Amino acid sequence: MANTAEHLHCVIIGSGPAGYTAAVYAARANMNPVLFTGKDPGGQLMITNDVENYPGYPSGIMGPEMMEDFRKQAERFGTQIRYEMITKVDFSGSVHKMWTESEQEIHADAVIIATGASAKWLGLESEKKFWSKGVSACAVCDGFFFRGQEVAVVGGGDTAAEEATYLAKLCPKVHLIVRRDQLRASKIMQERVLNAENIVIHWNSETQEVLGENEVEGVKLLNNKTGETTVIPVKGFFVAIGHQPNTDIFKGWLDMDETGYLKTVPGRTLTNIEGVFASGDAQDNIYRQAVTAAGTGCMAALDAERYLAAKGVI
Ligand code: NAP
Repeated sequence: MANTAEHLHCVIIGSGPAGYTAAVYAARANMNPVLFTGKDPGGQLMITNDVENYPGYPSGIMGPEMMEDFRKQAERFGTQIRYEMITKVDFSGSVHKMWTESEQEIHADAVIIATGASAKWLGLESEKKFWSKGVSACAVCDGFFFRGQEVAVVGGGDTAAEEATYLAKLCPKVHLIVRRDQLRASKIMQERVLNAENIVIHWNSETQEVLGENEVEGVKLLNNKTGETTVIPVKGFFVAIGHQPNTDIFKGWLDMDETGYLKTVPGRTLTNIEGVFASGDAQDNIYRQAVTAAGTGCMAALDAERYLAAKGVI
């Protein structure tokens, strides 16, 4: 265990589009940023296939490739990247304290939070039982294992639509389980799902149980309109029902809404603690796009720069 605290000007927590964009701006403003990647370097885009809506990529780009470019750009201007988690914070003083997973104590004048969000789960026992043995939250990562087999995707948003269309290229039949009588996904993604010949939508349907002995053999569905239950025979079950912000370590220090999204001053990245700024999906429950995350990452770095300059730190 390290005993001496390390003092830094600017710490960025998180390595998705928000974190890396904040790093590019902070490094170019001579703030000597140190970025802690967290446990999933690159964030949610690492499990995204084609990104078709990020400006500047007319032919689209793979999520992991895009994050590699973000990282290189942040490093090019001198950002120090540490492949570690921040596991605890203490924002009680003017210098903000943090601890890494290896218990190194870090002090920072400014902190930019860009911890993003993680996939949500249904909360079924059987979902846990088959995790990584047929149950997944990432078609791009695991779809390959189900080539030629029937699979199911649960959810009605863009993520579910994207997972279903991706799997439809590998599997003979994809069951999309939607709890209401409509999709939440954007129009273009809805069209892709509705036009795919091998995607079958189960409307008003809830997953009651993932069935099987040692591997997934089916899913039991309840129609919440008719009360009827059915079993669909699938080998893979993909959960795509949205995300939870990764903000647990800030509980008790930063203002957040009831689901954990950090609250900021409207139109800014300022939190309730001076010198702590929030960006990306950790504070955005409305837009949640890579491009908006990058935008708020830029804003956080500019807010932090003004703060550090006013304090005479840089
Ligand atoms: P989302 O938009 O919040 O959609 C979640 C979906 O899961 C909804 O259809 C919701 O149903 C359903 N759901 C939630 N809890 C459920 C439960 N317990 N059981 C069954 N269904 C449940 O989440 P998302 O699809 O992950 O998208 C998040 C954001 O990222 C969105 O802004 C989206 O546009 C964006 N995104 C964009 C792209 C792209 O443009 N390529 C790709 C992925 C994501 P209800 O509709 O009934 O609430």
